Parts: sequence; C-alpha cells; structure tokens
Amino acid sequence: MEKYKNFINNRWIDSESKETIKVEDPSTTKIIGEISCANKPEIDLAVSAAKESFNSRILVDMPLLDRAKLMRKIADETRKVAKEGGTILCYENGKSIGAAIKEFNDVADMFDYYAGLTDKLEGKTIPVSKSILDYTVLEPYGISAHIIPWNYPLAMLGRSLACSFATGNSTIIKTAELTPLSATFFAKAIENAGTPPGLINIISGYGDEAGAYLVSHPDVNHVVFTGSVITGKKILHMAADKAIPAIVELGGKSAGIVYPDANLDDVVESARHAIFGVAGQICTAMSRLVVHKSVKDELIVKLVDLSKSLKVGPGYEEGTDLTPVISNNQLEKVEGYARSGIQAGAEAVHGGKRIDRDGYFMEATVLNNVTQDMTVAREEIFGPVLSVLEYQDAEEAINIANDTDYGLGGGVFTKDLNKAAWTASKLQSGQVYVNKWFTGSHATPFGGYKQSGYSREKGVQALNSYLQIKNVGISLV
Ligand code: ADP
Repeated sequence: MEKYKNFINNRWIDSESKETIKVEDPSTTKIIGEISCANKPEIDLAVSAAKESFNSRILVDMPLLDRAKLMRKIADETRKVAKEGGTILCYENGKSIGAAIKEFNDVADMFDYYAGLTDKLEGKTIPVSKSILDYTVLEPYGISAHIIPWNYPLAMLGRSLACSFATGNSTIIKTAELTPLSATFFAKAIENAGTPPGLINIISGYGDEAGAYLVSHPDVNHVVFTGSVITGKKILHMAADKAIPAIVELGGKSAGIVYPDANLDDVVESARHAIFGVAGQICTAMSRLVVHKSVKDELIVKLVDLSKSLKVGPGYEEGTDLTPVISNNQLEKVEGYARSGIQAGAEAVHGGKRIDRDGYFMEATVLNNVTQDMTVAREEIFGPVLSVLEYQDAEEAINIANDTDYGLGGGVFTKDLNKAAWTASKLQSGQVYVNKWFTGSHATPFGGYKQSGYSREKGVQALNSYLQIKNVGISLV
C-alpha cells in the first residue's frame, strides 16, 4: 500500500505524530493508500512557509508575464499527471475514470485561463481635485487557506488556487480527509513546473482539527471554503473572530422547472448527469424536478427507463453510469432520506434503497408525488435521489423552486426562450440552466444566493475576492 505525504515548502513531509489517514475505495471498501495526517506542527510549518514566500515578494514582484508563464507551465505539468492522478481520484472518490481525468484537465484549464488575466488586474484613477492624483492598486491579501471538499477534490482545488495564485497570494490547501491522495499528484505538477517554494502548500488532515486550526491561525488572512452549510457557518465564525474575508460555496437544493412544452428527453439527459452522475454528490445537483401536471406521467416513465438503464459499478469499469457514494455514513444518510420520503407519502417509482453488493452503492431513486413540506424536498441529500413535484401554473412552479433555504442552482426546460428568460429572472439562485444542466465553464461565475454562500468562484469576477484595494492620493502641489 502506497504512503503519501504532505507537500510543504516544496518538500514532502511526514507528520511528526506519524499518524496517517487511510483512504478507502468506496466501490469495494478496501483501503487503497494512506497519507500523513497533518496537525498543528505541519500546519505551522505550512503557514510559515507561505508567510516567508509572501514576505519575500517573489510572486508579488514577479513580472506579470512571467507569473502567467509559470501558471501555464503548471497547467502543462498538470496535464502530464492527469492520467495517473485521475486514476487515483477515481479510486478514492468512486467517480468514473473519465470524469476523474477530466478534473485534472479542468485544473489545467483554470491555470491557463487565469494566467491570461494576471496582467489585466487594473486599478482606476479617481478625480479628486486638480492638485491630487488619486489611484487604486489591487493587492493580494497574503496568506490564503483553502478548505476542499471530497466530491470534486481537484476541480475545487483548481478553481480557487488558480485565482489565488494569479492575484499573488501564497496558498495553503487542506484536502478532504476522504479524498486526500489525488492532490499529491497535482503537487508533483507544482514541483515539476519549478514553482518557488512556499507559494503553494498542500496538506491533508481532519476538518475539526487541521481544518479548524488552519482557518483560525493568526497568520492566515483569507479563507476559501466549499462544503456543507454547517461547516461553512463554523468557518465564517472563525473568520469573523479574526475579521478576515471568507469565500464560501455551500450546499444546494436546486430545482428544474419543466414546462408543458419542454423536450422531455432534455430533462432525462440532465437527470443522467445532474442527479445520477457522481452518484448525485454535486452541490448543484438537479435534486428536484417541478413538473407540469400535463407532462408528469410521461416524464416519470422516461425517468424510470433511464434509471433502469444505468450501468452500476466502480468508476474504473468501462461504461459505468452509477458509481458509489463516498462512504458508509453517506450511504446511510442518503438511504435514510429516501426512506423518510416514502414514509411521508412519496412513491418510489424506482429505487429507494442501497444496492446489495460490496461498496457503497445506492439505487438510482426517483420519488414521485413529493410535496414541498417533505424533508426530501427541503434538505440537501447529496445522493442519487430525485424528487418529482407537480405544479399547475408557472407562478406556483417558481414559488416551489424558490421555497428553500438554498440558492445555488436552478433550471428551466421549455422551447419558449421568452418564458425561459422570465423564469430565470424569478429564480433565486446563483446559476440558472436552460434546457441543459451544467452549461458553465471555467469562465462563468459560480456561487450561491441565500444559504448557498456568497462571493463567486470562476470567471473574471472571482479575482475580486482574492484582492484588496489600496487607494493612493498624491498631492501634486
Ligand atoms: P462532509 O461533512 O460531507 O465531510 P464538510 O463540509 O464538513 O463536509 O467538509 C468539507 C471540508 O471541510 C473538508 O475538507 C473537511 O475536512 C473540512 N472541515 C470540516 N469541519 C471543519 C472545521 N470545523 N473547520 C475547518 N474545516 C473543516
């Protein structure tokens, strides 16, 4: 069994305690590797490496075209490790091998994208008076700590790190304890690209211990978090205690509204990827469908056909559609939600329970006749469970879609683009997908309304969250 280490100051570090985190393949429950578990001494080391690199101004003062070249080199090196790293990601997370390799390539794309923006972070001149030259300068915060979730371990790391690096911050990444191995392959890419030490540090450790210690470390002055609402609120409290900014992208309970004129095959195709892909462990999962009464029966038949057709198995097997959920805890939670929906009166037209085989597999579950008062319609499940609700008029559909504490994603299925735009304007969510879930790219801003968080990742706008503004006034008299 291979043993992996923390990447601190461009060195591979074992933890002082010798404690390790053992990582399971959720398809088999077998241990596939272990990694040194960082705790206080390793976090202190990572923070001091980041601080030293930031204070040396090596990245801040680097000519911006050189910063861009370094980022493109990181992108190239990331593509070189995509196959090997993607394979480990597939084993530790359970997702399909194609999706896992793509995640590495997406990180590379993020670095290429933000590389092109390093020399476009422009300030302003502000007219104050004839004798004052007033201008703004955009400066990095300094030491940025990123807490990463287990569902997209590389994509989440890449989007925040590329932005943080492009703006000149020194970064410490804490990976999720369930999926810490794949990031070490990315760390190799950082090393191979010749990145100066201390600018990027990648550690693994438990949330309540390493994560909390890192976020509340006095020298950390910027935090990025993606994960659950409960943990996000804890992070926000810790950040508030130090009065430092925090970017948080939290959960979701996204609804797709299906109008009577929708192409139902588009809805089914979105369900394949957006609720059954990655076993539904997606923050913008299409976890509710709000369907017009006139087309609901027909759609249910199609959703059942889809569910039956999905090939169940480990992500590393050719052609699998429904892969395992991440852990036994998660499986119990997801199964519990499905059960609660059925007990509350929903009809499981497909699935509803775990699959009787090794690993943490949950049936593709479609719950019909769900109503907004049921827990399955209100709470984030993070599993392959789709709730179907019925409506009669468009206002009612929008009210149902918005009747949640979350506001991450939303969708509309209709051939009438005027109606789509009208609906998009009414949905309280950070992104709206029309006729196809997941239309975004590295260039589109991503983030939540309401309890789904604030600030935006990806796109040009995200850079603002990693920069502070300095105003300079020069007296010309
Ligand atoms: P889950 O409960 O599904 O693991 P979380 O939102 O708790 O989801 O975890 C997302 C990330 O947050 C992980 O990297 C985890 O280690 C980290 N984390 C969990 N609790 C804390 C905490 N109290 N402080 C900092 N990070 C935490």
